[in-house]
Amino acid sequence: MTPEEFRRYGKQVVDWVAGYLSTIEDRPVRSPVAPGEVRDRLPAHPPERGEPVEDLLGDLDRVIMPGITHWQHPDFFAYFPANASGPAILGDLLSSGLGVQGMVWATSPACTELETVVVDWLAELLGLPAEFRTDGTGGGVIQDSASSAALVALLAALHRASGGKIRDHGVADTYRMYVSTETHSSLQRAGRIAGLGGGNVRAVPVDPVTFAMDVGELRRMIAGDVAAGAVPALVCATIGTTSTTAIDPVAEIGALCREAGVWLHVDAAYAGSAAVCPELRWINDGVAEYADSYATNPHKWLLTNFDCGVLWVRDRRPMIDALSILPEYLRNTATESGEVIDYRDWQVPLGRRFRALKLWSVIRWYGAEGLRAHIRTCVELAARFARLIDADDGFELHPGHPFGLVCFRPRWPSSVPDPNAETLAVMERLNASGELFLSHTKANGHVLLRLAVGSPATRAEHVEAAYRRIAAACQERR
Ligand SMILES: *Cc1c(COP(=O)(O)O)cnc(C)c1O
Repeated sequence: MTPEEFRRYGKQVVDWVAGYLSTIEDRPVRSPVAPGEVRDRLPAHPPERGEPVEDLLGDLDRVIMPGITHWQHPDFFAYFPANASGPAILGDLLSSGLGVQGMVWATSPACTELETVVVDWLAELLGLPAEFRTDGTGGGVIQDSASSAALVALLAALHRASGGKIRDHGVADTYRMYVSTETHSSLQRAGRIAGLGGGNVRAVPVDPVTFAMDVGELRRMIAGDVAAGAVPALVCATIGTTSTTAIDPVAEIGALCREAGVWLHVDAAYAGSAAVCPELRWINDGVAEYADSYATNPHKWLLTNFDCGVLWVRDRRPMIDALSILPEYLRNTATESGEVIDYRDWQVPLGRRFRALKLWSVIRWYGAEGLRAHIRTCVELAARFARLIDADDGFELHPGHPFGLVCFRPRWPSSVPDPNAETLAVMERLNASGELFLSHTKANGHVLLRLAVGSPATRAEHVEAAYRRIAAACQERR
């Protein structure tokens, strides 16, 4: 494709995306296709001869679009959002256009240096501690996901806990990490990937009302493990659990970690973005004092297209020591001078995309003001929906919804034999309608419906319509 052809088709594609975003509301939120339907409409073999872009775009409309669930739809409430925005899409396009692979500083200095600046900017926007800034002992880095951030934090924690021994000798059956029963599954996986063994990832029980980690239990588990000769390496506290946005008591957990010499990782993958609003910064109580690492995903709720997860560490040394290897072919004078950052040592893969461009583009387009307005709108809309549910005798509202997520369940008459099955059936019927998309979770044995407000396109009329549709669907089955 010549640059001239690229210019022509590129304009068509940008027009296509703009058209898609401006008419997204006319489409059913959840894709209605059955398993295999998209695949069946695609040729089994690749073309021998190159094909025109027009054919590709035709097939996009004909074959691909029916199989798309519309995450940016204003009635998409199922999962935490995966926000897309104009400036992020353009930033990603520029990144693709440059085609840079920024594994080390020398492979494109601006890729590294812009990243350093934007993760420091983001730390400031979120009110995170000065120790997380790159001009101190710590620093931030853009990862592909909060899952990768957790794995990197765990590897750094194991390195620190072992005094560097795991690099050469592995983890054996010595180290333990602690999560709660509500912690995201990516932490369990990080434990497995790091070779700890699933059995050495301890799940601490939670408070039955708030779903926050029970710190007394954590203390007992750590003491028991130490008494048995094991080494506690990491505790993960969550700010905004995936199931119900519960918040672990970070300060209390942190004080215990400090006392026991254990690494504290804070997973705020979804809710962390809320801290752009000063009135929501309380969610990070304890982070400045105690967190060794902290992760949040601008690719969820901060208007930045997937993928963009940011990990900050208070002390970058154990992470870099755990991960750096310098083969001959990567040796260069800049690295050897010690004056530059090589982000390859801050992540699991070697190669890395120029993701900072889209975050830069987003922060500059919206400004702090615009980012706060987005979060505040979502929080207000969620509160509006929660008030409607709370005022309706037909529902029970799950307590606590400081962010965009509201959990609730329909009340069924006592004649209904299996209330959970009934709730799931209502959800399935609503989702199949294409008019909105919800998800569910389970808490204390009850199936709860989850309505997560997060799309910048969602307005009051959408959450009000969602309430009316849900109430009507429940009424029909009572
Ligand atoms: C979404 C989520 C994750 C996983 O995020 P990825 O970026 O998809 O890995 C981890 N923790 C919490 C609390 C989440 O909500």
